[in-house]
Amino acid sequence: MRYIRELERKIPVCAEYDAAVVGGGIAGIAAAAAAARNGVKACIIEKQFALGGLATLGNVAIYLPICDGCGNQIVKGLGEELLRLSVSDGYSKIPACWEKGGNGRNRSRKRFTVTFNPPSFMLALEPLVLDSGADIMYDTRFCGVKKRGSAITHLIIENKDGRSAVACKTVVDASGDADVCAAAEEETVSLNTNVASGWFFSLDNKKPTLHVMSESYDPSGKTVPGGKRGFSGVNAKDVTEQVLAARRMFRERVHTLPLNIPAIPGLRMTRRLKGLTELQEKDEGRIFRNSVGMTGDWRKAGPVYCIPLTALAAVRTPNLVTAGRCISSDSAWDITRAIPACAVTGEAAGTAAALLCLSGNKSFASLDIKLLQAMLKKQNVPVDKKL
Ligand SMILES: Cc1cc2nc3c(=O)[nH]c(=O)nc-3n(C[C@H](O)[C@H](O)[C@H](O)COP(=O)(O)OP(=O)(O)OC[C@H]3O[C@@H](n4cnc5c(N)ncnc54)[C@H](O)[C@@H]3O)c2cc1C
Repeated sequence: MRYIRELERKIPVCAEYDAAVVGGGIAGIAAAAAAARNGVKACIIEKQFALGGLATLGNVAIYLPICDGCGNQIVKGLGEELLRLSVSDGYSKIPACWEKGGNGRNRSRKRFTVTFNPPSFMLALEPLVLDSGADIMYDTRFCGVKKRGSAITHLIIENKDGRSAVACKTVVDASGDADVCAAAEEETVSLNTNVASGWFFSLDNKKPTLHVMSESYDPSGKTVPGGKRGFSGVNAKDVTEQVLAARRMFRERVHTLPLNIPAIPGLRMTRRLKGLTELQEKDEGRIFRNSVGMTGDWRKAGPVYCIPLTALAAVRTPNLVTAGRCISSDSAWDITRAIPACAVTGEAAGTAAALLCLSGNKSFASLDIKLLQAMLKKQNVPVDKKL
């Protein structure tokens, strides 16, 4: 590799926030809305021109279950609010048994899940964020951090105005790829076993049809089935090659009229934080004293996972917390990356960021966990198994 030296330059501080959220996917939306609803100044820094991330721009049109498959609702708060919003256009219905007054006995047979129309969900997400009081900065890519000691004081961003800095008290890394963690020199873990995948709609017999296209993937993340090339998604070459492989797959397998194709790569698990707790599949049913939310397992009925604050909080950077698919989740990653779990960790991270600012505390690690749990419960978020 050859190098050149970039000249040091003075850049303007364009804005100041209590909670700066990098990434406007489901996790970032929940984080920013939760922070703003708790009274702090929050913003979303998003490199695309829309909210929703994989859920909308990636055409991932299924809001996986917010129940445990045994008749108990596990995800409430913003996780449920976003599910309801996703079908507020009437595209599909919430299963009748899960509606108020619905037949409770049927809830163990029918999971609380919906299929949604990505463009209308995308349109509905902006008012949710703006009404919470949070700001949105589109076409803005996070590209670095400035620290004082170990804490982040500014996020370096680039957009049409050039390069500038956002002053911030706390940061939520909801980039999906742990971009802030990597820039802040947190320890991270990457999987290079992503496969060619991407969902899209086509016009079949004059009807929009969803094509769920993916090479098969290994939920343990250890291998690439069929000995094919795996993609990490955290370097330019891999991202480009995964996108090209997915497009080749669409061309080869679909011979009808494409209505839309994903605008962003269908990468499941790229890079994540290595936190003090790395959530494992065997943590099913484990009660964490510092739990900030729960999720069920979309793949089977029964398992319930508590998600501890130590799986979200950065280790070396006191004012940095993660949310969504880049939290510290090891063998449980295929569970915590689902949309409902991303909403749960987003709401937890945003609420924790608000508490950090309001309490004048300096680190997520030293937050009063009982106070945080009380705030979350007030937001109707179950944090432990007393459902
Ligand atoms: C093929 C596929 C199928 C799936 N199927 C389902 C399913 O059926 N149901 C389900 O519930 N889940 C499914 N998932 C998982 C789920 O969609 C995602 O894990 C979840 O939506 C991730 O949300 P997130 O907010 O953590 O991240 P993302 O949706 O990835 O959002 C991250 C956001 O951050 C932005 N960003 C990234 N880097 C930067 C930067 N440097 N600066 C500024 N902005 C940045 C991105 O543009 C993006 O908007 C699927 C995933 C894939 C890939």
